[in-house]
Amino acid sequence: MLDRLQHAMDSSDRTNTEGAILYIDLDNFKEINNTLGHEIGDQLLILVAQRLSNSIRKDDNVARLGGDEFVVVLENLSINKLEAAIQSETICDKILSALNQPYSIAEHELHNSPSIGAILFHDGEQTIEELLKKADIAMYQAKNDGRNRMLFFDQQMQDAINSRAALIDDLHSAILNNQFQLYYQVQVNEFSKATGVEGLIRWLHPERGLVMPDQFIPVAEETNMILAIGNWVLETACAQLKKWQEVAATKDLVLSVNVSSRQFKQKNFVTQLQTVVHQYGIDPHKLKLEITESMLLEDIGDVIANIGILQSDGISFSLDDFGTGYSSLQYLQRLPLDQLKIDLSFVRHIESSISDQTIVATIIAMANSLNLHVIAEGVETEKQRNILLDKGCKHYQGYLFSKPVPITEFEALLQQRPTQ
Ligand code: C2E
Ligand code: MG
Ligand code: MG
Repeated sequence: MLDRLQHAMDSSDRTNTEGAILYIDLDNFKEINNTLGHEIGDQLLILVAQRLSNSIRKDDNVARLGGDEFVVVLENLSINKLEAAIQSETICDKILSALNQPYSIAEHELHNSPSIGAILFHDGEQTIEELLKKADIAMYQAKNDGRNRMLFFDQQMQDAINSRAALIDDLHSAILNNQFQLYYQVQVNEFSKATGVEGLIRWLHPERGLVMPDQFIPVAEETNMILAIGNWVLETACAQLKKWQEVAATKDLVLSVNVSSRQFKQKNFVTQLQTVVHQYGIDPHKLKLEITESMLLEDIGDVIANIGILQSDGISFSLDDFGTGYSSLQYLQRLPLDQLKIDLSFVRHIESSISDQTIVATIIAMANSLNLHVIAEGVETEKQRNILLDKGCKHYQGYLFSKPVPITEFEALLQQRPTQ
């Protein structure tokens, strides 16, 4: 294949025409191999190869790189880049539709699809290695975008991949060098007294500056770094609670921390947390964990059991961003929760949107019937607060009361807003 690809590149140079590389990977091939056996998998690969050969022109080449990866090299496309791209797309459409036809192998009727990454080449300005790597990146992106599709490589894709790699590197050193800080945002009751506080992580990077969690938590989750980061958050929270516990003005504060799904689902999460609580000697009733609906998609039984254990220790649970995910009411009933947190997206337009008002009223009614507390996040105006109060929601968090701030600012703020 490398030899023919080199040949195609030389010829494109000579004739001034464009060529293209299509990097093809089968979706869910592993599943077929694992469930039906390698022999069936092998048969499928043979049929895929045949269909690929039938989808391309006589002069084009198809090769199997290994596993379920194939490469098609298209030669002598148009001299115009755009037309060449359209020609490649037409061939990809053919390939997609050919590989989406059912396969009958032994007594099975199998369905499979490919993801395809494509790149045009012209003269020798890029090496074969670079071209294959870029086509591979585009294929990977096609998978991420939902599979069974073709994507062209573009520079933005490359940039995104580079900046993600840099972020991962920086995040590793952030953990080693302790570059995180916990900010605190007050939670108040209907009388504007402070009842609790949410800890929100910030990353203070020497060059990037203050990095917000939305920019690094998802990557930390994908790379499992969330486990180290999450531990740091829990330890920092417990250390803080310990200090608060010893001062009359702060001893009743309940501190909420966000726990991501990966973190909660690690095998020893429960014992780890119990150890930290014990180590710092805090009252577990002052610690609240915020979990999200995404946690409830899998292993719901284990999740319920672990929440139950921690809750019997005194730790409470809040369901964050409530209303944005997919919550089965049946699960909600089985979960030993203490609080629902109305997502800020419903609060934002509550002044003008009747449907948001209805949703909020429904959430509150549901919370009441399940015997759960309810708090609204993202409260920015008096009017929003009043509408929420009118619907029966008596706890609030949002810029109206305070932004998330570093500990010293938070403690100064508490002096003006005593706890209830
Ligand atoms: P969240 O837990 O739902 O936190 C609420 C977010 O809304 C925070 O954003 C907060 O700063 C912001 N917010 C608060 N009041 C207002 C308001 O009045 N208006 C508006 N527009 N926004 C408001 P932040 O701090 O950027 O955190 C974003 C998300 O990152 C959090 O959403 C949470 O899911 C995640 N996160 C933050 N800290 C941690 C952490 O320690 N661990 C984990 N796993 N996730 C965290
Ligand atoms: Mg939260
Ligand atoms: Mg939230």
